[in-house]
Amino acid sequence: MDIKKLVRSEVLNLIPYESARKIGGMGDVWLNANESPYYLTFNLSNKKFNRYPEPQSKTILLNYSKYLGHNINSKILITRGADEAIDLLIRTFCIPNKDMIIYFPPTYGMYHISALISGIKNKIINIYKNNNFYVDNFFKQFKNVKLIFICRPNNPTGDIISQESIIYILQNLNNTLLIIDEAYIEFILNESFVLYVKKYINLIILRTMSKAFALAGLRCGFIIADKLIIQFLSKIIAPYPLSTPVIDIVSQSLIKKNVVLMYTRVIEINSNRIWFIYMLRSINYVIKIFDSVANYLLVYFEFSEKIFRYLWDNGIIVRNQKSNYLKNCIRITVGSKLECLKIIMKLKEYNFIK
Ligand SMILES: *Cc1c(COP(=O)(O)O)cnc(C)c1O
Repeated sequence: MDIKKLVRSEVLNLIPYESARKIGGMGDVWLNANESPYYLTFNLSNKKFNRYPEPQSKTILLNYSKYLGHNINSKILITRGADEAIDLLIRTFCIPNKDMIIYFPPTYGMYHISALISGIKNKIINIYKNNNFYVDNFFKQFKNVKLIFICRPNNPTGDIISQESIIYILQNLNNTLLIIDEAYIEFILNESFVLYVKKYINLIILRTMSKAFALAGLRCGFIIADKLIIQFLSKIIAPYPLSTPVIDIVSQSLIKKNVVLMYTRVIEINSNRIWFIYMLRSINYVIKIFDSVANYLLVYFEFSEKIFRYLWDNGIIVRNQKSNYLKNCIRITVGSKLECLKIIMKLKEYNFIK
C-alpha cells in the first residue's frame, strides 16, 4: 500500500511551520519565541480529573471580559491558543479551492500554513512596501476573499498599522471579515480594537495568554467577535478544547492581582527594550533595528547567518528570518535585563574577535 497516495495533496506537499521549539538548540538564553522571561507558579485548585472539563469555562469568560473592560462574555470563544483560533476561522468561513485569505508579509506564518492545510488560496499584499490602503482599487482585489489577517503589532517587524488604516479598511469591506491578531497588544496601551467589535460586525479580534501573560506552556487564546460569528465557530471547535488544569490556571491568572502583575512585567520588558535598542546601536555590524512596540526586535545584521550561528554556539538562541522579505534579519525576543545583557556582551565580543 502506498500511503503517499492516500494522503491529501495539501498535506503531502506541505512545508510545516517551524516552531521555535522544533528547531531546538541548547543553551540558557532563549530569545527565539517571544515568550516571557518571568513567571508565576500555581497550585491546582482542582485535583480530580475523572470528569471532562467545561467546554467553555464560565469563570474564564467572565474574568476575561472583565479584563477587556466590558461585559461582552457572550462574544468570546476560548481556544487552544490563538493558533487554533486561526484554523477555526479558516475552516468556518473558507471554501477549499475557491476562497482566499489575504495577509501582509512579512508577518506571522500560521495564516499561510493554516490556509494551505485547508486548501485555501493565499493572496499576499505587501503594504509594508507600498502603503496602499487608500487607493481605490485596493478593495477591488477582494473578490473571493473571505478573511483578511492583520497582525497588530506585527510579528516579526514589531510595528503597528495605524488606527486610521484599520477603520478605513473596516468601513470599506464588503463580504470580507477583518481579523486583527492582537497577540502582543498588551505591550502597547490604548491600541486594542476589541471594543470596536460592538460597532463592526465584520471585525474579529484574536488574543492569547502566551505572550504578556507569560503562559505559553498552557495553550490558551481567545476570539472576540460578533455573537453570530462566535456561534458558528462554536459549532466546529473540539468538544473540550481546554483541559481542566489549563482552565484552573488561566482562571487564576485573570484575577485582578495577577493582571496587575502582568502589567508590571510588561513595563519591565518595555523598559528592557529601550535599553536593549540603545546597546544594539553601539554594535557596528548592526545595520538597522526596526521600530518595535512589542517584546521583540527585528535586527538587520551585516552577516546575520554567522551571527545566528555564533550566538547559537554560545547558548543564546534567537530566531533567524527565512522569509525573502527579511534577508539578513534576526528576531530577538526582549528578555530579562540579565538576558539582554548576556546577548549584548556576546555581540560585543564578536565585534572584538572579528
Ligand atoms: C505567538 C503568536 C500566536 C500564537 O499564540 P498561541 O496562543 O500561543 O497559539 C498568534 N499570533 C501571533 C502574531 C503570535 O506571535
